[in-house]
Amino acid sequence: MDENLNLDIATYGPALRIIRKRRKVFFGTILSYIPALWITYKISPHDRSMGTVFVIWVIILTITTFWSAVATCPRCGKYFHVNGMTILYLRKCLHCQLHINADKEQ
Ligand SMILES: [Zn+2]
Repeated sequence: MDENLNLDIATYGPALRIIRKRRKVFFGTILSYIPALWITYKISPHDRSMGTVFVIWVIILTITTFWSAVATCPRCGKYFHVNGMTILYLRKCLHCQLHINADKEQ
């Protein structure tokens, strides 16, 4: 039984790598907010340019949020970070509790 479980976890690797990559893009987008506005302020300290960069950042954040939210869990096939109307970026699947690094922990 344990061998079957380990074999299953080994096959989850590609899907878990996709989930990890999408999470990195999502959190990278969040972390880019302050540097993007700071650079914009140094180049052009006008409300219009700051507002434009903010709107572009919100659009990119919306896209990366949906992109990372629709990543499916390789074990249960449901959305890894979505349960009902709730999006939670935890390190475990919200449905079957599969850890995001389960393929690395062998
Ligand atoms: Zn799952």
